Amino acid sequence: MRIAVIDYDKCNPDKCGHFLCERVCPVNRMGGEAIIIDEENYRPVIQEASCTGCGICVHKCPFNAITIVNLPEELEEGCVHRYGINGFVLYRLPVVKEGMVVGILGPNGTGKTTAVKILSGQLLPNLCGGNDSWDNVIRAFRGNELQNYFERLKNKEIRPVVKPQYVDLIPKAVKGKVRDLLKRADKSGKFEEVVKELELENILDRDIGHLSGGELQRVAIAAALLRNAEFYFFDEPSSYLDIRQRLRIAKIIRRLAESGKNVLTVEHDLAILDYMSDIIHVVYGKPGAYGIFSQPKSTRNGINEFLRGYLRDENVRFRPYEINFSKKSERKSQEGEILVEYPPLVKDYGSFRLEAEGGELYIGEVVGIVGPNGIGKTTFVKMLAGVEKPTEGEIDWSLTVSYKPQYIKTDYEGTVYELLSKIDAGKLMSSFYKSELLNPLGIPELYDRQVNDLSGGELQRVAITACLLRDADLYLLDEPSAHLDVEQRLAVSKAIRSLMAKNEKTALIVEHDVMMVDYLSDRLIVFEGEPGRFGRASKPMGMREGMNRFLAAVGVTFRRDPDTGRPRANKEGSVKDREQKERGEYYYT
Ligand code: ADP
Ligand code: ADP
Ligand code: SF4
Ligand code: SF4
Repeated sequence: MRIAVIDYDKCNPDKCGHFLCERVCPVNRMGGEAIIIDEENYRPVIQEASCTGCGICVHKCPFNAITIVNLPEELEEGCVHRYGINGFVLYRLPVVKEGMVVGILGPNGTGKTTAVKILSGQLLPNLCGGNDSWDNVIRAFRGNELQNYFERLKNKEIRPVVKPQYVDLIPKAVKGKVRDLLKRADKSGKFEEVVKELELENILDRDIGHLSGGELQRVAIAAALLRNAEFYFFDEPSSYLDIRQRLRIAKIIRRLAESGKNVLTVEHDLAILDYMSDIIHVVYGKPGAYGIFSQPKSTRNGINEFLRGYLRDENVRFRPYEINFSKKSERKSQEGEILVEYPPLVKDYGSFRLEAEGGELYIGEVVGIVGPNGIGKTTFVKMLAGVEKPTEGEIDWSLTVSYKPQYIKTDYEGTVYELLSKIDAGKLMSSFYKSELLNPLGIPELYDRQVNDLSGGELQRVAITACLLRDADLYLLDEPSAHLDVEQRLAVSKAIRSLMAKNEKTALIVEHDVMMVDYLSDRLIVFEGEPGRFGRASKPMGMREGMNRFLAAVGVTFRRDPDTGRPRANKEGSVKDREQKERGEYYYT
């Protein structure tokens, strides 16, 4: 079975020399019609029945707009939805089970949202043909666990609730006070309980337009929990939350399932996905072209198979390489040239006070910064940069800092290329930056796109790139993982490490995804205290010491998965959890 997918956002028939694909196609040259021109929409259409799959058009298209893939015949009957001729194709769906959290793991653009739209009844799947009724869907899923689910969905016995992925967009759609929004959502009578659990007491009278991303995330989760539904879907519930808040919402979502609800979640923070899910579906395919849901798997196997790039039961290799977490815990302590040595620093804003131990930063290193939001991390770096004057402690240097904030707001009018070339056009041409940064982050594919039209994940990659292209002594990136999938998180981590080492610069990375902190950091600075009131920053310390200190404050222990080396959170009160806490080893046992 062959599918041909054209990404019409990338296709530009005028710029390729007028329908280049049509002109080079051997079938067309022989008088056939594998590619025809849709004059009305001014675009090429590939007729899959006539296409031989030679791949010439794929290689010739200068904008990488065409994908041709051969897929196993048996997938055909699992074809659930296709967005039109040459559109994205979705194969199979995840199961939905009462009393269980079903986790979905896979790259962006492989149909996770499409699947959820179908399961929540917002999108009638066309079954890759002209289907126009739910009865046909029920018939197509006969004998499948979803048959009964679709029957209930059709009879309106299932009310779905969706917590959307991009919480930053909520203020555009909803106005007013947090309290009014949550009161309107409350069909369960659990207002007080949910507000307390998600620590929303202090922001109930705030305007939705004035909330931070982390606050919006918790309000959106609260609104979903307050509705009385049978099917709950949480799309990336962890973005913008610190680790304590992540573990807390993971527990709340688990409890919701245990009360007999169907819960589905997409989450790219693997430690949290692992903690929260009963079973996992891996989604694989080619982003933007097709996506296939795997069989349901145990959480541990599902995540491990995802990292290996190989699904055992299906006998499918979907990635040519494995993702491996080498045991980097005890990298040798930093030697080499010091970028800056700083004394103990205090900043007192009156309502907020930060005390930081003195320390030093080395050239070429990446220092992870861990701790809650609102604890003084940005204030600390501003002092190091000489932008903010300490209340106590002398700073007699000035370092240039390039900063990527946690919440990316843009009203830039222009394309990605225009934005980035204004920062440094030379670096966009350099083979070093292409291979270390631009290609791994998939930036060239975005060059012609308007910055205002980018999705949250695309904007994140552009903002990280913009930050790393600037010349500076010190790079500060606040939560670079937000809205990125696992592979993108690793690509970003590698790019940061490699640029710092090769350019002899220093990076401070604020991050809440434990896997990424582990993968990325040479050393850690741990922030503790009470958000919004006072913060204490440790000196930079080794990974083991830093992780122990940080996780002890959160009260959670981690072990390493023996097969993949990835960090796994221990269940609270389990034998391992108790043993590790007794020994003071919260990490790396
Ligand atoms: P994910 O949630 O995994 O990121 P989505 O289900 O949102 O993936 O989208 C998968 C692909 O389907 C997208 O890359 C896009 O190409 C395509 N797609 C999504 N919605 C539409 C639509 N309404 N019309 C055409 N194509 C769409
Ligand atoms: P983080 O980066 O850890 O989220 P910040 O350093 O941004 O934390 O802020 C820590 C606290 O300091 C917050 O409560 C914030 O409101 C307060 N704060 C930051 N800048 C100022 C300022 N210029 N004046 C008064 N308070 C400030
Ligand atoms: Fe040109 Fe590529 Fe579009 Fe074909 S798919 S018309 S080669 S831009
Ligand atoms: Fe034509 Fe080959 Fe492209 Fe098919 S893959 S449309 S046969 S050029």
